[in-house]
Amino acid sequence: MGSAIGDPLVSMVMTSLARPFLLTSIHDVSPRFETEVDGLLALLEPYVGKRLAMLVVPNHWGDSPIIAGSPFAARLRGWAEHGIEIFLHGYFHRDDARHTIASDRLRARFMTASEGEFLGLSQSEAANRITEGRKLIEDVTGQPIDGFVAPAWLYGEGAMDALRDAAIPIAEDHFRVWSPASGRRLAQGPVITWASRSRPRLASSLIAAATLRHVPMPVLRVGVHPPDIRHHAIVRSVEHTLKAALRSRRAAAYKELN
Ligand SMILES: [Zn+2]
Repeated sequence: MGSAIGDPLVSMVMTSLARPFLLTSIHDVSPRFETEVDGLLALLEPYVGKRLAMLVVPNHWGDSPIIAGSPFAARLRGWAEHGIEIFLHGYFHRDDARHTIASDRLRARFMTASEGEFLGLSQSEAANRITEGRKLIEDVTGQPIDGFVAPAWLYGEGAMDALRDAAIPIAEDHFRVWSPASGRRLAQGPVITWASRSRPRLASSLIAAATLRHVPMPVLRVGVHPPDIRHHAIVRSVEHTLKAALRSRRAAAYKELN
């Protein structure tokens, strides 16, 4: 009896379905970084096309609001219409809460230069910012947001509860992707990202990228930030990473995990 497994077309389709994922994202999309975001899009598109996610900050540091009807809002809508996934990425991207737990305080200070906005928020304040930010972005794009990523990937308990109550479909931190709506874990493994705040951090992020891009995880995540585009070594490392990843992976959307 002929088996479908032996059919070249079927096995080609099965191989492409089984191929591990590459998920690529641009962080801190805001009018403040419009030039850098354009640079990052030009860098990524030859590799992943529009198969990427944008992490959008409604009002970066409180002085860079996305305003409905503005040229930037029109661009955001255009990106969403081209199939780029749109994630809410905090509201102000700045950590203005007073952390009561010492370890949280340390984490916020050392890991993020105080940009862990959602680390110290109460559940009600986190819920307010999620609701407001979501409404603003959805009004602009005309589509539901694809998910939420906390600034610096740092979530406090209040943030976790608020995300679950808001039934956000997808969230991620440094080590995993999960669905707050269903409680399911969707992927595991560190995200490849670059740091440019200091030379030692830049150097170690280049080494980490060169190592992690060869790890055979089912889902490989790559996240770039606006300042990355100003560093030639980072740009080259991003290109090498995408090239290496795409030898065995296909560029995928976060929603394919759900
Ligand atoms: Zn960010």
